[in-house]
Amino acid sequence: AKRQGPGRQQFYEAALSAGAEQRLAVESGLRLAMAQRQFRLHYQPQLDLRDGTLVGVEALVRWQHPQWGLVGPARFIPVAEEAGLIDEVGLWVLMEACRQLRAWDAAGLHIPAISVNCSVRQLDADRLPAQVAAVLAATGLAAQRLEMEITESTLMRDPERAIAALLALQAQGVRLAIDDFGTGHSSLAYLKRLPVTRLKIDRAFVSGIGNDPNDEQICRTVIELARNLRLQTLAEGVEHAHEAEFLRNEGCDLAQGFHYARPLPPEALAAWLAAHRAE
Ligand code: C2E
Ligand code: CA
Ligand code: CA
Ligand code: CA
Repeated sequence: AKRQGPGRQQFYEAALSAGAEQRLAVESGLRLAMAQRQFRLHYQPQLDLRDGTLVGVEALVRWQHPQWGLVGPARFIPVAEEAGLIDEVGLWVLMEACRQLRAWDAAGLHIPAISVNCSVRQLDADRLPAQVAAVLAATGLAAQRLEMEITESTLMRDPERAIAALLALQAQGVRLAIDDFGTGHSSLAYLKRLPVTRLKIDRAFVSGIGNDPNDEQICRTVIELARNLRLQTLAEGVEHAHEAEFLRNEGCDLAQGFHYARPLPPEALAAWLAAHRAE
């Protein structure tokens, strides 16, 4: 990663902190970022908890700003959403993720699937399925190898609209996961109707394993709920071996987190995979 001086960091903090003027700077920066191709994707492995095999990678967007350095999504995705730029950013992410998976195919790397995050503004029953279809056609990626992650709070903002969009995606063969599960107050009635195949247990609960019995109970409850609904569970933010151990014992299927690998740029992911498979 590129080293940043303290001056740069201050500039960055000043530009991204509260204030309409600064927000405008980020907003115009984002427009330029699209045009100048300043976005990057990092990829984090998702593993089978029982045998450690790689089941896929999650694509996570970063903004490589010429002055501010590498900016994380929490700092600019909300601005992009408010400024009406998320559709463009989201489409770029989708295309780049699918393109990269096909490039890895061509290089003989065999990464089974890719997960892409979907923002609330993108979840439209007409536009999103059309965009996904166009990207799959352009890249030649099989729909079954693409998973869209939608946060529980996004789904619950307008459940009927979300269900319509998810059904259209499901009809194409794309797989769907509920992200940040346990934080968004979804009702079981809706959960039953959502055509998803995976629940991602939020990092907030996983990090409590070993020190907060309530978090442990929530993890158990989500795993049991998922089992009853025939859904896969993926625990995110696994940082320690004892967390992985607990989750495996409770029957959680998959895991992702710093314990295995951080989100990595494409070249580093390829190197990680070579080392992982040699183990
Ligand atoms: P998320 O989807 O819940 O992604 C997981 C976040 O946790 C990522 O932060 C990841 O780097 C971080 N993480 C993974 N493993 C660990 C761990 O073991 N410990 C800790 N402390 N953190 C871990 P990141 O990359 O900063 O992304 C933050 C959020 O930004 C994501 O949360 C997602 O909601 C959003 N996001 C990222 N990429 C995109 C995108 O392409 N489109 C949209 N709409 N949202 C995105
Ligand atoms: Ca996610
Ligand atoms: Ca999360
Ligand atoms: Ca812990």
